Amino acid sequence: MSQAVTAVKEQEELLLCRSYSRYPIAIVRGRGARLWDVDGKEYVDLLAGIAVIGLGHCNEELCDALNAQSRMLWHVSNLFYQQPQLDLARLLLSTTHHDKAFFCNSGAEANEACIKLVRRYMRTVQQRDAFEIITLSGCFHGRTLAALAATRREALSAGFFPLPEGFKQVLAGDLNALRNAVTTSTAAVLLEVVQGEGGIVPLEARYLRGVEALCREHGILLICDEVQCGLCRTGKFWAFQNFELTPDIISIAKSLANGLPMGAMLTTDEAAKGFAAGSHATTFGGGALTSAVAAKTVEIMLRDRMDERAAKLGTHLRQRLAALQERMPHAIREVRGLGLMTGIELAQNGQKIWDELLRRGYICNLSQGAILRLLPPLVIAQADLDGFVDTLEHILKTCP
Ligand SMILES: *Cc1c(COP(=O)(O)O)cnc(C)c1O
Repeated sequence: MSQAVTAVKEQEELLLCRSYSRYPIAIVRGRGARLWDVDGKEYVDLLAGIAVIGLGHCNEELCDALNAQSRMLWHVSNLFYQQPQLDLARLLLSTTHHDKAFFCNSGAEANEACIKLVRRYMRTVQQRDAFEIITLSGCFHGRTLAALAATRREALSAGFFPLPEGFKQVLAGDLNALRNAVTTSTAAVLLEVVQGEGGIVPLEARYLRGVEALCREHGILLICDEVQCGLCRTGKFWAFQNFELTPDIISIAKSLANGLPMGAMLTTDEAAKGFAAGSHATTFGGGALTSAVAAKTVEIMLRDRMDERAAKLGTHLRQRLAALQERMPHAIREVRGLGLMTGIELAQNGQKIWDELLRRGYICNLSQGAILRLLPPLVIAQADLDGFVDTLEHILKTCP
């Protein structure tokens, strides 16, 4: 660790709550798919702030949209009408079968909105005392108490009990387990079609369609958490569109405003009946400034066909990684993903490999100690992806 990084680290330990274990670098500047640290070293960013910076760091058009809106109006609260929130809603709804949007500020909050909507929909519209949400093993839905209850992972919820009731989890991929778990109390199934934090695990198309059919059969709602996999990342505008699903509700966040905090829930008109004026609210949700930036983000994604770009680049990357795996089956156990969501499961603990990638200027995430997780900006150059594969091969051949 350089002196400059050590200095930042010391301040951090004095000033901030112990809640994060950070990578040993301090970033000062970004551009496109590149980052620079305090020592001026350049990195290829294959993580994009955890699937957030879809259109690249400091995107010029987004800077312009931000500047323009910053001189017009920042925030008035949801007590007032304002156009940017509507422009964003119209753009988002043009990409999907959903009819209505609700804006908030993060992924966990978007899931909270979904949970509250389905519970209230069941009580007030269906007149059924159905409240239970079923989730799948390996999922991640956020860190608020309800999202933790949905996620149901020991390591994340230890020390925080009691969590809200009304959540149940079944084995992902096992339709019978889900069928057996459904009761008259079941309100919805909540799932990620590609599990992100779980290590980039795409669920099978047949299973997903089975889940949807089961939901329809029992009159329960299907919620897709698109917080990480949505917004072009998987090669379709929404990840559920890869599987021809029609979820009643989806949650969105991460890359929605390319780095400004913004989340949303999109829902069908039918499920939207679950909320009435006053049912749910947030001070910051859909603020003018974040909405203007998000609207420009979605507009660019549509205009530049970022979905197709992600599909093409992702296919190329995984073909190259599959070829590498064939050459080095002892080092790479599995390569998986969809679009620009890629997981490389190593045959052994990957800490040394991750360290060496960072030393050579490639930033990615190491998940569960052995999975290299790549969530690069959608605008990344193919040459940067090739450079990563070449570097990984060199490291795997030279590192014991
Ligand atoms: C990151 C993530 C969340 C939580 O989002 P926050 O903005 O951190 O609250 C929820 N669901 C999925 C699938 C995520 O990847």
